[in-house]
Amino acid sequence: MSEQASPQDQILGIVNNYWQGCAVGAAAELEIADHLADGPLDIAALAERTKTHASSLYRMLRALESTGIFTQVSSGAFANTPASECLRRRAPNSSWAWLRVTLSSNGMVNNGWRGLMVSLKEGKPGFEELNGCTGWEYMQANPEQGAVFNEAMRDLAAAITPAVTGSYDWGRFPVIADLGGGVGSQLIDILDAHPDCRGVLFDQPQVITQAPEHRRMEPLGGDFFSNIPQADAYLLRWILHDWDDAQARAILKNVHAAAKPGAALMIVESVIPESAEFDMGKWMDLNMMVMAGGRERTANEFRVLFDQAGFDFEEIVETPSPLSIVVGKARD
Ligand code: SAH
Repeated sequence: MSEQASPQDQILGIVNNYWQGCAVGAAAELEIADHLADGPLDIAALAERTKTHASSLYRMLRALESTGIFTQVSSGAFANTPASECLRRRAPNSSWAWLRVTLSSNGMVNNGWRGLMVSLKEGKPGFEELNGCTGWEYMQANPEQGAVFNEAMRDLAAAITPAVTGSYDWGRFPVIADLGGGVGSQLIDILDAHPDCRGVLFDQPQVITQAPEHRRMEPLGGDFFSNIPQADAYLLRWILHDWDDAQARAILKNVHAAAKPGAALMIVESVIPESAEFDMGKWMDLNMMVMAGGRERTANEFRVLFDQAGFDFEEIVETPSPLSIVVGKARD
């Protein structure tokens, strides 16, 4: 058993974690791991390809190497390690897009966290205060950043998607509408597992065009604050946490208006524990606060929201991932 860090070491460690985050974000922004995908490169070649200052780049990679991210195979020649492989844009377990969004100098989420103090003082999303527009508007105006955000959502969900598919008998629903379904990764995985189901992928028009085609999936562009398609089950993964209670209630009331009595509401989100333990959802909650003015919710907060929007709260199904499925049923 390692000895517990002293309180001071715990705090100072946070400073180093922050610096490591900045360096990893810069490495992702420069796509260094992709440059090393075909084998080691010396620092001069790497600096040329990334248009950086060679000795500064060397110093950053030396520091990262000390944490197991990149390694020198000979003096000044760097190669990937299993950890830096995750920084490759097209690697199977890639975290590139999420790092790009959260830690790179121009990453949207990084930008939003700079507004933490604004959120704390004014109770408004720091991102909006700093940028003068919502995150969604920002992505519409900056399609490249929007595309990386969608990629990040897909990668971040890579382990969650099969966990959600396998934790519920989705086959009981003839038509599943995935509201704010992004590029469709969760819906497609469910459809592939249940050949008798059909799906409607509903998201903003510019987002669904990035989704792959699927024979049993109809892409539908729209706004979940105004028009929602008919379906037997409504899947909303990582949607309600983007919105405050009034907006989340408005979305759910809209779903209720479109739903047949008895239709299922399948909310896939973190459920925040009432206890003091570490839970990633408590940190994602801060992310939602600074980025969108949204929030993660406790079981009880979901129960209240469901009730107000006309849904019976049925159960919470845990999955072998950080997200749970909060199940509701439309009342008459
Ligand atoms: N459900 C997906 C994406 C979550 S990100 C997943 O789990 O990976 C939130 C999604 O909500 C984005 O794809 C965004 O385009 C969509 N969205 C935001 N506002 C919307 C609106 N008014 N109508 C429809 N979709 C919206």
